[in-house]
Amino acid sequence: MTAMGFDLIPPLTANARYQPSFRIADVIDGRARLTEAQLLELYCNAPLSQLGGYAAAMTERLCPEDYRTYVIDRNINYTNICTARCTFCAFKRNDPNAPDAYTLDNDAIYEKIRELIAIGGTQILMQGGMNPALPIGYYENLLAGIREQFPHIHIHAFSPPEFVEFSRFFNMPVREILQRFQACGLATVPGGGGEIFSDRVRSRIGPGKCTGEEWLDVMSEAHKLGMFTSATMLIGHIEDIADRIDHLRRLRQRQDWALANAPAHYTAFIHWTYQPENTPLDKKRKWNPDDGKAFEFDNGRTVRLADAHEYLRMLALSRLYLDNFRNLQSSWVTMGPKIGQLALFFGANDMGSVMMEENVVSSAGTTYCLSEEMICRIIRDSGWIPAQRNQYYEVLKRHDGPDSPDRRHRSAPPTRRRQHIITPDDAAAYKSAALSISAKRRSV
Ligand code: SF4
Repeated sequence: MTAMGFDLIPPLTANARYQPSFRIADVIDGRARLTEAQLLELYCNAPLSQLGGYAAAMTERLCPEDYRTYVIDRNINYTNICTARCTFCAFKRNDPNAPDAYTLDNDAIYEKIRELIAIGGTQILMQGGMNPALPIGYYENLLAGIREQFPHIHIHAFSPPEFVEFSRFFNMPVREILQRFQACGLATVPGGGGEIFSDRVRSRIGPGKCTGEEWLDVMSEAHKLGMFTSATMLIGHIEDIADRIDHLRRLRQRQDWALANAPAHYTAFIHWTYQPENTPLDKKRKWNPDDGKAFEFDNGRTVRLADAHEYLRMLALSRLYLDNFRNLQSSWVTMGPKIGQLALFFGANDMGSVMMEENVVSSAGTTYCLSEEMICRIIRDSGWIPAQRNQYYEVLKRHDGPDSPDRRHRSAPPTRRRQHIITPDDAAAYKSAALSISAKRRSV
C-alpha cells in the first residue's frame, strides 16, 4: 500500500543520492516552505545521510551560533494519580488507593527544588497525572509558595491535557485557569501530552485525554496571555507517516498564527520515541519490516516501533518542515547519548535537559542519564561550545574556559584536543589488527 504514490517503507539501504522533484535549496535557504507532499517525498525516498545534510544546513542558517545549548532542570511529577488511560504510559495509577499512588505536598516539592539549586539548576518542569481530588487551591498555593521561596526558579509546568481536565474539575474556562496560575508564578507551559494530534490515533492511545485540537487551543490561549510554550510529538506506536505529517502541519499553522498575532509562541519542538516496557500498548503485535509489507494504520492493532534511523529521519524532516520553530531538541533521554549526539547533525540545536529526576519515561524502561559534564563533552566533541540556557533559550553561561564542567575535573591538560581523534599511529595499529582479524576469518 502506498500513500500519494510513495512506498511507505523508508529506503534502508539506499546509498545513491536522491534528486528531489523540487528545489530543496530554496527550503534550506528560507525562500520556500516545505509542503506536506514534499515532506512525504523526502521521507519515502531520500537516504538518511542526505536528509541529515539538508537538516544540518538549515540548522546552520537558523542557529548560526558557535554554541549548542542545554538546561539544568528537574522533572517533578507531583502526582501519579490520573483519570486518563494512555496505553503507552507506565507511570500513572488510576486507583488513588493503589499502594504506590502518590501526591506530593509543598514541602516535598520544596526539598526537590533545594536539591536542584545545589547543582546549579534554574528551572522545574512540573507535570502530573490528572488527579480529580486536587482542588485549584492546591495548585495556586504550590505555585505561590515556590515563587516566594525560590524567586529565581523558573516554573515550567502543567501540560495542555492537565489544563483541559482542570477546566472540567474546577468548572472554569482554561483561559481563566491559565491567568490565575500565571498570577501565582507559572511562567511557561511545557508541551507534554502532544503525542499525535490525529483523532484516529489519539482516541486509541490516549483515552480520557484531550483531543489534538484542544491541546492546540490551550497553547494558543497561553500564547495570547504572553506565556511561551513548547511542542512535542511521540512517534513509533500505531501512527503512520500521514499522522505525523498532519501533526507537524497543525503545529506550523498555529506557530504562524502565534508569531503574527500573539505576544508569545512555541520556543521549541521535541519529538521522541515510544518506550514500550511495562505499558499496555506493548501487548499489541509488532510490525515486521522483513515481511515485505509497508506499515499502514490498522485501527491501532499493530505497533511500529521507531529505531534510531526512524528517529533521526523524523528529526531531519521536522527541521526542514518546521521553519518557524527556532529550536529543536535532541531526545537523548529515549535514544541514548550516542544518538543524542548524532541528533546535533540532524537538525537539533539543543541537548535538552540535564535532568535530576525523570519518572515518566523511566517507568517505561528507559534509564539513560547524563550529567552536565557529559552533556558538555558531547556538545564540545561535536564541534560547538557548550552553553547553559534558560527556558527562553537565552544563554546563561558559555563554557569556553578551563573551568567548564567537562574540563574542570581533568587533572592534567589533555595531550590530544579530542579523545576520539585517531592519530596516524592509532590508524596503523587499527589497520594491522583488522588485517589479522580478517586473516583469521579466512583461515577458519
Ligand atoms: S501519559 Fe499522562 S495523561 Fe496519560 S495516563 Fe500517563 S500520566 Fe495520565
